[in-house]
Amino acid sequence: MINPENNHNQQAITNPPEEFLSYSEHMRQITESSNDSNKPATEIITYNSALERNSNEPLQTKINTLLREEIDYISSTFDIASSVIQANCPRLSIINWKPGQKSYILFGKEKIEQHDHGAMWAFYSPMFQVNADTMDNEWNIDKTIHCSEETSDHDLSHELLHALSSSPEINFDENGVASYKSGLSIISINKQRQVVDKSHDAIGLTEGLTELLAERIEPPKSPQYTYAQAKRIANILLSPFNNELAQAYFSTKSEDVKSFFRNFDDRQNSISSKELINLDPEAKFITTSLLKGCVEYTLSFCENSKQQQIEKERLQPIIKEILRKNWNAPNGIGDYIKVKRQFRNNPNIESLNIKLQSLQSLNAELTNIPESVTNYDSYESYILEIIGF
Ligand SMILES: [Zn+2]
Repeated sequence: MINPENNHNQQAITNPPEEFLSYSEHMRQITESSNDSNKPATEIITYNSALERNSNEPLQTKINTLLREEIDYISSTFDIASSVIQANCPRLSIINWKPGQKSYILFGKEKIEQHDHGAMWAFYSPMFQVNADTMDNEWNIDKTIHCSEETSDHDLSHELLHALSSSPEINFDENGVASYKSGLSIISINKQRQVVDKSHDAIGLTEGLTELLAERIEPPKSPQYTYAQAKRIANILLSPFNNELAQAYFSTKSEDVKSFFRNFDDRQNSISSKELINLDPEAKFITTSLLKGCVEYTLSFCENSKQQQIEKERLQPIIKEILRKNWNAPNGIGDYIKVKRQFRNNPNIESLNIKLQSLQSLNAELTNIPESVTNYDSYESYILEIIGF
């Protein structure tokens, strides 16, 4: 879960009482003293839900251990120097709330109340802070994770990956607009915390990859259904023969993300990168063209038939999981085939015909399903053949 800008759930307090500013004042002092070369790799500071500093050593130790695990995994798996990843997150605030308490984020000097959420819920939130030394166009970002005692290590790992893969600072141009990168998503915001450009907001792929990496680094205790299809798309793209996706995700440069999507367009002809950028984090149905484009992109990095073979064996179970979910999705292939069969047996029942038409208008993909597809097995072999397996 990431929460950079959507303020529809939040209530702004325009004139916060003085004590509400303790958090921002504290962070300013830390910024001023951050030239100390003996400081630990990532400085972790804990706060209570009212943004008052609140020492919590067990939590600090836990976060430090999880961070260390993540940085080790990332640097050894994706050929990224640990110092580069480390630089993305020199310090981190952990805001620890208890169920039933209100919690807040800061934007500039504004304290914004977050709506109630369940005890196990955690989210990452960049807190944008005016940097007093550089006038008001270069703002610091205080990376913060909101969590409770109930938050699992897996969920904390997910939020820590957002912290390691997002912009550490933000620079406004002469029009007061700045670009903010989080994972594979780039948005432009203004100083009023409004999003002015969402055309590169690849939130689905960002959440999918974040959850995929969190599962690898800190396996969940029970199966996770969050961002399931987006996670499988990220898994197709995250090839052992190509680190482009991971390197763009952890880069601080928006240009590296744009270059990943340009390269995606160059290496396959099935779909535009716009469709990949627009992938919904909670997508239930993945179109054949998106699936085909992602498979083609990944296979394009294989240098010989042996690598092709290795990749196809890796991809096949992921593709089958996507197809299984497509079949079972509400208004997906399974529903369509069922209604089609019912209508064929009862051609005079107009309501079945209407249902069939409405399914087709909901999901354009259905119009391409041939008559030969009558059950899941025939659907799977039909798609595998289209995508060249
Ligand atoms: Zn997330």
